[in-house]
Amino acid sequence: MGTYPMAREDREIQERARRFVDDELIPWELHAEEHGGQIPDDARERHHRMAIELGLYAMNMPRELGGGGFSTFQQVLVSEQIGRVTNGLGWCVHTPPAWAPDVVSAEQLERWIVPTVRGERHECYAITEEAAGSDVDAIQATARREGEVYALNGTKMHVTSFNTADYLFVQAKLDGGPHDGEHAMFFVDKDTDGVRLVREPAYMHTYPDTHAEVALEDVRVPAANRIGEEGDGLAFTYAWFRYERLMIAARCCGAADRLIEEATGFARERVQFGRPIIEHQAIAHMLADSLTELWAARLMTYELARNIDRGVDVKVQHAQCSMAKLYASEMAGRVADRAVQIFGGRGYMRENVAERFYREVRVDRIWEGTSEIQRNIVADQLSKRGVGPLTG
Ligand SMILES: Cc1cc2nc3c(=O)[nH]c(=O)nc-3n(C[C@H](O)[C@H](O)[C@H](O)COP(=O)(O)OP(=O)(O)OC[C@H]3O[C@@H](n4cnc5c(N)ncnc54)[C@H](O)[C@@H]3O)c2cc1C
Repeated sequence: MGTYPMAREDREIQERARRFVDDELIPWELHAEEHGGQIPDDARERHHRMAIELGLYAMNMPRELGGGGFSTFQQVLVSEQIGRVTNGLGWCVHTPPAWAPDVVSAEQLERWIVPTVRGERHECYAITEEAAGSDVDAIQATARREGEVYALNGTKMHVTSFNTADYLFVQAKLDGGPHDGEHAMFFVDKDTDGVRLVREPAYMHTYPDTHAEVALEDVRVPAANRIGEEGDGLAFTYAWFRYERLMIAARCCGAADRLIEEATGFARERVQFGRPIIEHQAIAHMLADSLTELWAARLMTYELARNIDRGVDVKVQHAQCSMAKLYASEMAGRVADRAVQIFGGRGYMRENVAERFYREVRVDRIWEGTSEIQRNIVADQLSKRGVGPLTG
């Protein structure tokens, strides 16, 4: 465990998460890799139950709704540990949308959010489309109000966890009415008529969750399923992006931590040309660079979490979340690449942790905004605010 100063309660949470990851999740990695991301149902149920019993499930949600009520810093500590395990096994520590309780109606809270906090219902996010990835505002899915219902039409891509979800957050543009062309977000139960799975293509990682293409064909939902007001949709997505970017940074720190530990252990043992390879300077330097970059990313991520807990300006948070995600995801990519190299031929084998992370951390430079988009956000804030407020 590290020496970074933190309260005893924070350290205890960090240790609880670490033990869960080390003792319960990591032992299933290889099985998951060899079985298309799947582990036996009883093991999956045990992980789900334990995540709840340990108080880690829905750690980001308010206590009064049954969530953990963790500070942002505490959530980062947990996410970092979750990042140390491959194959999406850590996703049993689920974090529902923390922006939701403040904006949903009492009925929506009872019907979707509270059961999600309890782990009884599962959501997925349908925002991205064929022509709208980085440019979220380019979505073409429409929501047309007809009396007390909205008719939703469009096709969504990369809908993560569609296979395990029972409802979707759908983002669409209003078609007609006073907010014509603006965004709105809706709760849509997966079994609503007109929600159709188009396909579930294979992706680079070996996860149990799919990333589906989903058609919405004249899906009629009551007006009461709209979240917030007409025109609010994009604001919720931005709140979610900020949160996820920070947690991706934390998970990338965890991945790098594990990779450096494993690669260092191997480099101490593996003997070539009569000495452990860690005594070959080329190998030692790769490890030194990796450790240095991990420390920088971790400090940045921890400091950002503390800033959020201190309530710094939301625009500053937005830029700092982008900086943390950008730096930590690119750092993890470099560390994984070096770890594969240090393991040599073994690093290219699927049974090797470095091989799995090499594939898995790649997406952290793409989802929740690509590295290029993070740079655009940071540069935009830099030109508006200058260096001091963003780094002070
Ligand atoms: C595994 C996975 C899971 C996902 N899960 C979900 C999900 O659950 N729900 C959901 O809605 N979406 C999801 N996504 C979608 C994800 O958010 C998008 O893939 C991402 O935002 C990038 O969009 P895009 O793939 O269309 O790339 P594009 O936007 O087409 O970008 C292509 C390239 O152009 C670059 N580019 C684009 N615009 C600019 C610019 N202005 N300046 C510089 N470079 C630019 C990008 O950085 C990238 O390199 C997921 C994606 C993946 C891979």
